[in-house]
Amino acid sequence: MPEQPGYDGAAAAWVGAGDLEGVIGMRVLVSVDMEGIAGVVHSDDIRPGHSEYERNRNLLTAEVNAAVRGIHAYQADAQVLVTEAHAEFRNLLPELLDRRAELLRGTPKPGGMMAGLAADMDAALFIGYHGKAGMPRSVMAHTISGRVIADVRCNGRSLGELGLNTALAAHHGVPPVLVSGDDTVAAEAAAVAPGIRCVVVKHALGARAAALLHPDEACDRIEREVPMALADRQDVRPLRFDGPVQLEVQVLRPQMTEQALLVPGMEREDGCTLRYAAPDFPTAYQVTELIATLGAI
Ligand SMILES: [Zn+2]
Repeated sequence: MPEQPGYDGAAAAWVGAGDLEGVIGMRVLVSVDMEGIAGVVHSDDIRPGHSEYERNRNLLTAEVNAAVRGIHAYQADAQVLVTEAHAEFRNLLPELLDRRAELLRGTPKPGGMMAGLAADMDAALFIGYHGKAGMPRSVMAHTISGRVIADVRCNGRSLGELGLNTALAAHHGVPPVLVSGDDTVAAEAAAVAPGIRCVVVKHALGARAAALLHPDEACDRIEREVPMALADRQDVRPLRFDGPVQLEVQVLRPQMTEQALLVPGMEREDGCTLRYAAPDFPTAYQVTELIATLGAI
């Protein structure tokens, strides 16, 4: 255990102040994607290196800061861990991030989009999330990799990034309490985690079009909603997978299965679908990430 709150790389787990003698504070994980923030509708808006992306990093950081303020409004000594979950995991502007939050940045990082998740955390929040692959009228909908994955199913249940990540949190006993994004990810959230609070920052008109809240209004709504979400955290009933998981990952083209089929235990179900019998949900989650990585080679 490190002497100070922080990320314990050796243990691959975040050790917050709550673990330290004499210090008590709730611990909250904030996973931050980008497609679902107010103001962005097009892949250029979120593509590192593009001028629009550079501008939108400010909006992204502002939405996360709104969430951090909301957490501290609920509990002043809360420990907040912000974990990046978009592109190369280097999107937030660290110098503009609320200084009360700790940031997990860079790739690859153990745990990926949910790096830092630990069983003794009190809640998980999802900022800037988007709809799953194949969802119609959904801003930039995809699952993990829009260039590789068509669908992910766990025990027959189709899950996008939100569903995978809320189920991973639930597996560790951490309630997923709030998601922000467009109205389609809010609909998805209601199905995978009934009771979760949703902040709809834009109404999708299509894959690359939306009716947007002003970014400041989006931040105000996030800040307002977070304390209520934390207060009601025991009311969320997320989908969880406690036993073995039959994983099916459908890719876009048959050749995208070929590298993944080198993994022992991986089977081909049909031309574009891989099947893997995972002993538990975290393994299914990791294998899904592996398939996305190998499919892009
Ligand atoms: Zn994403």
